[in-house]
Amino acid sequence: MCGVRVTRRRPAAFCATLAFVMLRALPILLVLTFAHGAAALMPADLPKCPVKTASCIALDLWLPGDFADLPWLQTQIGAADERLAAIGAGVQVVAVHTLPAALTQIQTVAQRTALGERGHQAPLRWFVVAHLADAEDRQAVRKGVTWRNGSDFWVIESQTAMRWVLAHELGHVLGLPHSVQPASIMNKTPRLWPPPWQIGFTAREQPIMRRTLARLVRAGRVHLHAPGQVDKL
Ligand SMILES: [Zn+2]
Repeated sequence: MCGVRVTRRRPAAFCATLAFVMLRALPILLVLTFAHGAAALMPADLPKCPVKTASCIALDLWLPGDFADLPWLQTQIGAADERLAAIGAGVQVVAVHTLPAALTQIQTVAQRTALGERGHQAPLRWFVVAHLADAEDRQAVRKGVTWRNGSDFWVIESQTAMRWVLAHELGHVLGLPHSVQPASIMNKTPRLWPPPWQIGFTAREQPIMRRTLARLVRAGRVHLHAPGQVDKL
Protein backbone atom coordinates (compact mmCIF):
# COMPACT_ATOMS: atom_id res chain seq x y z
CA MET A 1 0.00 0.00 0.00
CA CYS A 2 3.11 2.20 0.27
CA GLY A 3 1.54 4.17 3.13
CA VAL A 4 -1.16 5.80 1.01
CA ARG A 5 -4.55 4.75 -0.26
CA VAL A 6 -4.44 3.06 -3.64
CA THR A 7 -6.83 4.64 -6.09
CA ARG A 8 -7.38 4.20 -9.80
CA ARG A 9 -5.01 7.13 -10.32
CA ARG A 10 -2.36 5.57 -8.00
CA PRO A 11 -2.26 1.86 -8.89
CA ALA A 12 -0.21 -0.77 -7.06
CA ALA A 13 2.45 -0.68 -9.80
CA PHE A 14 3.00 3.00 -9.03
CA CYS A 15 3.52 2.18 -5.33
CA ALA A 16 5.98 -0.58 -6.14
CA THR A 17 7.94 1.79 -8.37
CA LEU A 18 7.91 4.48 -5.69
CA ALA A 19 9.15 2.02 -3.03
CA PHE A 20 11.91 0.82 -5.37
CA VAL A 21 13.09 4.37 -6.06
CA MET A 22 13.07 5.22 -2.33
CA LEU A 23 15.09 2.11 -1.45
CA ARG A 24 17.64 2.91 -4.17
CA ALA A 25 17.90 6.49 -2.91
CA LEU A 26 18.33 5.53 0.78
CA PRO A 27 22.12 4.92 0.67
CA ILE A 28 22.58 8.19 -1.22
CA LEU A 29 20.54 10.03 1.41
CA LEU A 30 22.63 8.45 4.20
CA VAL A 31 25.88 9.50 2.49
CA LEU A 32 24.55 13.02 1.95
CA THR A 33 23.57 13.19 5.62
CA PHE A 34 27.10 12.19 6.75
CA ALA A 35 28.64 14.54 4.21
CA HIS A 36 27.36 17.40 6.34
CA GLY A 37 30.21 16.53 8.70
CA ALA A 38 31.02 15.07 12.07
CA ALA A 39 28.09 16.79 13.77
CA ALA A 40 25.70 14.48 11.91
CA LEU A 41 27.45 11.32 13.08
CA MET A 42 25.98 9.37 15.99
CA PRO A 43 27.51 6.52 18.03
CA ALA A 44 24.80 4.26 16.61
CA ASP A 45 26.29 4.79 13.13
CA LEU A 46 29.52 3.10 14.24
CA PRO A 47 30.34 -0.57 14.97
CA LYS A 48 28.92 -1.69 18.29
CA CYS A 49 30.69 -3.45 21.15
CA PRO A 50 31.03 -7.10 20.03
CA VAL A 51 28.29 -9.23 21.61
CA LYS A 52 30.65 -11.80 23.17
CA THR A 53 33.03 -9.21 24.56
CA ALA A 54 33.27 -8.99 28.34
CA SER A 55 34.35 -5.37 28.51
CA CYS A 56 34.24 -2.63 25.91
CA ILE A 57 36.26 0.51 26.56
CA ALA A 58 34.02 3.57 26.19
CA LEU A 59 35.43 6.06 23.67
CA ASP A 60 34.62 9.77 23.45
CA LEU A 61 35.22 10.54 19.76
CA TRP A 62 36.24 14.01 18.53
CA LEU A 63 36.30 14.73 14.80
CA PRO A 64 37.11 17.67 12.51
CA GLY A 65 33.94 19.45 11.43
CA ASP A 66 34.42 18.44 7.79
CA PHE A 67 35.29 14.80 8.53
CA ALA A 68 33.30 12.49 6.27
CA ASP A 69 35.22 9.20 6.14
CA LEU A 70 32.85 6.78 7.86
CA PRO A 71 34.62 3.67 6.42
CA TRP A 72 37.91 4.82 8.02
CA LEU A 73 36.26 4.98 11.44
CA GLN A 74 34.63 1.58 10.93
CA THR A 75 37.99 0.06 9.96
CA GLN A 76 39.83 1.52 12.95
CA ILE A 77 37.16 0.30 15.38
CA GLY A 78 36.95 -3.10 13.71
CA ALA A 79 40.72 -3.62 13.91
CA ALA A 80 40.75 -2.56 17.57
CA ASP A 81 37.92 -4.97 18.39
CA GLU A 82 39.73 -7.82 16.62
CA ARG A 83 42.98 -7.27 18.54
CA LEU A 84 41.40 -6.53 21.93
CA ALA A 85 39.36 -9.73 21.70
CA ALA A 86 42.52 -11.49 22.96
CA ILE A 87 41.84 -10.00 26.42
CA GLY A 88 38.05 -10.19 26.20
CA ALA A 89 37.76 -6.49 25.46
CA GLY A 90 36.64 -4.20 22.65
CA VAL A 91 35.63 -0.60 22.13
CA GLN A 92 32.36 1.32 21.99
CA VAL A 93 32.04 4.94 20.90
CA VAL A 94 29.61 6.51 23.35
CA ALA A 95 29.69 10.13 22.15
CA VAL A 96 30.77 12.09 19.07
CA HIS A 97 31.87 15.73 19.14
CA THR A 98 33.16 18.27 16.62
CA LEU A 99 36.69 19.61 17.11
CA PRO A 100 37.25 23.36 16.70
CA ALA A 101 39.10 24.07 13.43
CA ALA A 102 42.09 25.43 15.39
CA LEU A 103 42.66 21.99 16.93
CA THR A 104 42.57 19.87 13.77
CA GLN A 105 46.16 20.66 12.67
CA ILE A 106 48.39 19.50 15.54
CA GLN A 107 51.89 20.91 15.06
CA THR A 108 53.17 21.41 18.60
CA VAL A 109 53.35 19.72 21.97
CA ALA A 110 51.26 22.59 23.35
CA GLN A 111 48.48 21.78 20.88
CA ARG A 112 48.54 18.10 21.87
CA THR A 113 48.10 19.20 25.48
CA ALA A 114 45.40 21.73 24.55
CA LEU A 115 43.26 18.91 23.16
CA GLY A 116 42.91 17.68 26.73
CA GLU A 117 40.93 20.79 27.60
CA ARG A 118 38.10 19.26 25.57
CA GLY A 119 35.91 16.81 27.44
CA HIS A 120 36.98 14.90 30.53
CA GLN A 121 39.25 11.97 31.40
CA ALA A 122 36.68 9.18 31.15
CA PRO A 123 35.40 7.86 28.72
CA LEU A 124 38.71 7.66 26.89
CA ARG A 125 39.01 10.57 24.48
CA TRP A 126 39.90 9.67 20.89
CA PHE A 127 40.87 12.79 18.93
CA VAL A 128 40.98 12.33 15.16
CA VAL A 129 42.84 15.20 13.51
CA ALA A 130 43.63 16.21 9.94
CA HIS A 131 47.39 16.47 10.62
CA LEU A 132 49.65 15.30 13.45
CA ALA A 133 53.27 16.48 13.36
CA ASP A 134 56.14 14.77 15.16
CA ALA A 135 56.94 16.38 18.52
CA GLU A 136 60.62 16.99 17.67
CA ASP A 137 60.59 17.32 13.89
CA ARG A 138 57.55 19.25 12.64
CA GLN A 139 58.30 18.24 9.07
CA ALA A 140 57.74 14.60 10.02
CA VAL A 141 54.23 13.20 10.25
CA ARG A 142 52.96 10.97 13.05
CA LYS A 143 49.98 8.66 12.64
CA GLY A 144 49.04 8.34 16.28
CA VAL A 145 50.12 9.10 19.82
CA THR A 146 48.89 8.41 23.34
CA TRP A 147 49.38 11.75 25.06
CA ARG A 148 49.64 12.23 28.80
CA ASN A 149 49.28 15.35 30.91
CA GLY A 150 49.59 14.65 34.62
CA SER A 151 47.30 11.74 35.39
CA ASP A 152 45.14 12.40 32.31
CA PHE A 153 45.70 10.73 28.95
CA TRP A 154 44.07 10.58 25.55
CA VAL A 155 44.62 9.20 22.07
CA ILE A 156 45.41 11.50 19.13
CA GLU A 157 45.24 9.95 15.68
CA SER A 158 45.76 11.31 12.19
CA GLN A 159 42.80 10.67 9.89
CA THR A 160 45.33 9.24 7.41
CA ALA A 161 46.49 6.52 9.83
CA MET A 162 46.61 2.87 8.82
CA ARG A 163 43.93 0.51 10.08
CA TRP A 164 45.72 -0.81 13.19
CA VAL A 165 46.84 2.52 14.70
CA LEU A 166 43.91 2.85 17.12
CA ALA A 167 44.60 -0.70 18.37
CA HIS A 168 48.31 0.15 18.81
CA GLU A 169 47.48 3.29 20.82
CA LEU A 170 45.06 1.34 23.00
CA GLY A 171 47.99 -0.96 23.74
CA HIS A 172 49.83 2.07 25.14
CA VAL A 173 46.73 3.10 27.11
CA LEU A 174 46.72 -0.39 28.62
CA GLY A 175 50.31 -0.18 29.78
CA LEU A 176 52.37 -1.51 26.88
CA PRO A 177 55.65 -0.03 25.64
CA HIS A 178 56.91 -0.59 22.10
CA SER A 179 58.04 -4.13 21.33
CA VAL A 180 60.60 -5.90 19.18
CA GLN A 181 58.52 -9.08 18.96
CA PRO A 182 57.57 -9.76 15.31
CA ALA A 183 54.00 -10.81 16.24
CA SER A 184 53.30 -7.75 18.40
CA ILE A 185 51.22 -4.84 17.16
CA MET A 186 53.41 -2.73 19.46
CA ASN A 187 56.38 -3.37 17.14
CA LYS A 188 56.62 -0.40 14.76
CA THR A 189 59.39 -1.86 12.60
CA PRO A 190 58.26 -2.56 8.99
CA ARG A 191 58.49 -6.33 8.38
CA LEU A 192 57.33 -8.93 5.92
CA TRP A 193 56.48 -11.62 8.48
CA PRO A 194 54.10 -12.40 10.06
CA PRO A 195 51.29 -11.06 7.82
CA PRO A 196 49.20 -8.19 9.27
CA TRP A 197 46.27 -10.42 10.22
CA GLN A 198 48.57 -12.45 12.50
CA ILE A 199 49.90 -9.38 14.29
CA GLY A 200 48.23 -8.51 17.58
CA PHE A 201 48.83 -8.49 21.31
CA THR A 202 51.17 -11.31 22.31
CA ALA A 203 50.66 -13.80 25.15
CA ARG A 204 53.26 -11.88 27.16
CA GLU A 205 51.47 -8.54 26.65
CA GLN A 206 47.93 -9.66 27.39
CA PRO A 207 48.24 -10.07 31.20
CA ILE A 208 49.70 -6.55 31.44
CA MET A 209 46.76 -5.20 29.48
CA ARG A 210 44.19 -7.04 31.60
CA ARG A 211 45.72 -5.79 34.84
CA THR A 212 46.05 -2.21 33.57
CA LEU A 213 42.49 -2.09 32.27
CA ALA A 214 41.12 -3.41 35.57
CA ARG A 215 43.19 -0.86 37.50
CA LEU A 216 42.13 2.06 35.26
CA VAL A 217 38.47 1.10 35.48
CA ARG A 218 38.57 0.76 39.26
CA ALA A 219 40.25 4.18 39.49
CA GLY A 220 37.62 5.72 37.21
CA ARG A 221 40.27 6.68 34.64
CA VAL A 222 38.63 4.54 31.94
CA HIS A 223 34.95 3.69 31.66
CA LEU A 224 33.50 0.46 30.35
CA HIS A 225 30.50 0.57 28.05
CA ALA A 226 28.81 -2.03 30.27
CA PRO A 227 29.61 -1.05 33.90
CA GLY A 228 30.13 -3.89 36.34
CA GLN A 229 32.08 -6.03 33.90
CA VAL A 230 35.46 -5.28 35.45
CA ASP A 231 35.43 -8.48 37.56
CA LYS A 232 35.55 -10.52 34.34
CA LEU A 233 38.87 -8.99 33.33
ZN1 LIG B 1 53.49 3.57 19.82
